[in-house]
Amino acid sequence: MKNLFKNVGLTIVVLLVMMSVFQFATFGQVEPEEIGIARLVNEIKAGEVEEIIVRGSSLEILRVDENPDDDETPVPQITSKEPGEKLSDLLTNYGVTSEELLTFTTSVQSEKGFSYWMRILLPTLGPLVLILVIIFFMARQVQGANSRAMMFGKSAAKEQQEKDKKHKTTFADVAGMKEAKEELEEIVDFLKRPKRFTEMGAKIPRGVLMTGRPGTGKTLLSRAVAGEAGVPFFHMSGSEFVEMFVGVGASRVRDLFSKAKKAAPAIVFIDEIDAVGRRRGSGMGGSHDEREQTLNQILVEMDGFEENLGVIVIAATNRPDVLDPALLRPGRFDRRVSVGAPDIKDREAILKVHAKNKPLEDSVDLKKVAERTPGFTGADLANLMNEAAITTVRTDKKKLTLDSILNSIEKVLLGPERKSHVMDEEEKRMTAYHEAGHAVVGYFSKHSDPVRKVSIISRGSAGGYTLKMPDKDKHFHTKSEFYDDIAVALGGFVIEKMIFGEENISTGPSSDLRKATQLARALIMEYGMSSALGPRTYGQSQDMKYLGGETHAARDYSEDVAKEIDDEVLKILEEAKARAKAILTEQKDRVEKLVERL
Ligand code: ADP
Ligand code: ZN
Repeated sequence: MKNLFKNVGLTIVVLLVMMSVFQFATFGQVEPEEIGIARLVNEIKAGEVEEIIVRGSSLEILRVDENPDDDETPVPQITSKEPGEKLSDLLTNYGVTSEELLTFTTSVQSEKGFSYWMRILLPTLGPLVLILVIIFFMARQVQGANSRAMMFGKSAAKEQQEKDKKHKTTFADVAGMKEAKEELEEIVDFLKRPKRFTEMGAKIPRGVLMTGRPGTGKTLLSRAVAGEAGVPFFHMSGSEFVEMFVGVGASRVRDLFSKAKKAAPAIVFIDEIDAVGRRRGSGMGGSHDEREQTLNQILVEMDGFEENLGVIVIAATNRPDVLDPALLRPGRFDRRVSVGAPDIKDREAILKVHAKNKPLEDSVDLKKVAERTPGFTGADLANLMNEAAITTVRTDKKKLTLDSILNSIEKVLLGPERKSHVMDEEEKRMTAYHEAGHAVVGYFSKHSDPVRKVSIISRGSAGGYTLKMPDKDKHFHTKSEFYDDIAVALGGFVIEKMIFGEENISTGPSSDLRKATQLARALIMEYGMSSALGPRTYGQSQDMKYLGGETHAARDYSEDVAKEIDDEVLKILEEAKARAKAILTEQKDRVEKLVERL
């Protein structure tokens, strides 16, 4: 809207300029005086008229200059007649004699000149031009705001031809991931030397499904495949297919594949395929007609590849379990490459890749960083190195130190510190006790991850935080770990109650309570760890949980069992609470010391 006003303003300025040009064109001419025919006749009879110039229906009257010596000339006059009426007839009708007609000269001129045309055109064209200008600007605005709406069917697939050798992504840019690379080596071979395989009667695969958490390097790896094979790389995200208009998705798919076929051999990369490739007919998640059409189009395109065309589709997802089985059939995404979170060796390698263009202090041992970052993905690690570099610049240091990197871990995990978030003394004391509660229970629980840091400076949305981190990569969790983690989660709640009393419990621990409850439920319902309820799972379909956001898990147990589960959850929580309380009572002086320090 602001822009619109600006544009209208601009248009008005343009018109003003045009008008002043028009004014300028007539500038310098003396404004003629309008008179009637009767006065003209009188002037003729008095012999004052020297010449009459006829222009169409207007008559310009130049009068005799009575004092030719002075500078002044008489003001010209102007009058009009009916078009097509002869001047002599007109004057004769008014009683001008034929002798009097000879006292002045008559000349007939056709109308012309810039000012004449402007006079005719401006009143009609002016508003028209104004309207056109406004329409033009408005159209431009609509396009700017939503230019994609103007080219619905076109896929916005970004193609990277990676001819530029320097920026070509290769396997060397992807640290670790040995198995995944080996799997994909084959695809590179297919793309490079298709003949070898076709001569052997082998079919080149059409689709590869990459599964793994976000940030584990799926896109990077696919790009590296294209780079290694030296073929173009078409990148598109599943969510980009599904837009505001029905049918857009399918036509984008068509467009994407037709581009890729023209460029074959090529890699088509579809990120977040679960956005369109969810199991059909599940009836959840809205707009699924559009999704189905899009998915069908992908299947049609893949089936329609002529044999060994050389277009390989790599799709990435974090949720292979929700994908439509039709996608996974032979001839479609029948190859699977799973990329997990990197282990300690891979983490070190990834850190090295991202330390390459950053000046590190000699003493920095990236292995130490790798030890402290279990569970981090490649993207987290890249982010970590970047944060460390930013901190280094902002503290005016020349090189990255180990400390700067380690300190950035929390920033990556919990968000930036909010030093401006002011707490009063009382709130600070409460936060300190709360975090000390977590920390002390954590420290004295054998199976809980070691406590690394306690802070009452808020980060992100947390008021304070207690950072726990395992020593090594963990792939499994035990029952005792669950029990200890629940006790640690309740530590803050328990100590608040002990120190400030039942009535003064704050809203602070609510997320801790939720976390503890979730852990207890998972322990019983998903992992069958409760001896009371036996070795079975309760509730079905994590899929639905994911789709609906909330737990809509289908119940596959009776009302009675539901009650039993609730009782068991409560029992576990009460037990954990008692344990936390016992630890905190026994270690009261340690809690006090910690609070003092905080
Ligand atoms: P995904 O597609 O799995 O979500 P990306 O491929 O987009 O993840 O990875 C995000 C970023 O993380 C990459 O651009 C890269 O900087 C970094 N990264 C991830 N894995 C690795 C790795 N193995 N080696 C180097 N960098 C990595
Ligand atoms: Zn807490």
